[in-house]
Amino acid sequence: MQCFAEKGVICAKCGLVGTFFALEIFKSCAKPHFNLYGFNAAGEEILLTMDHVRPKAQGGTNNLDNAQTLCGPCNFAKGCRFPDEDRAEIDKRLKDARDEKTAKRRQTQSEEPVSESQA
Ligand SMILES: [Zn+2]
Repeated sequence: MQCFAEKGVICAKCGLVGTFFALEIFKSCAKPHFNLYGFNAAGEEILLTMDHVRPKAQGGTNNLDNAQTLCGPCNFAKGCRFPDEDRAEIDKRLKDARDEKTAKRRQTQSEEPVSESQA
């Protein structure tokens, strides 16, 4: 959050602009926190993240001068990942959303008028 104030809300790599914050809760965090989202060219919601310029695994610090704003796809491309639990949570939500859509589609199909034998 502080990073976005200091570093801006634009992805340092592709220039995607964060346009809104969403309050979200992940299992691995005790408190709900705000996540920054923007829209890509296709109109899809893209999560913007605070990235460590120099990964912590390579001795990078949590200081703001080691922070940059990256969108999800750029961050994943770079190889940094969410903590596994968060990642799993996001994957689950995406899957749930897909399943819901599929279920609705199935329902719609089954409600379509059926064969002449009913007439
Ligand atoms: Zn990007």
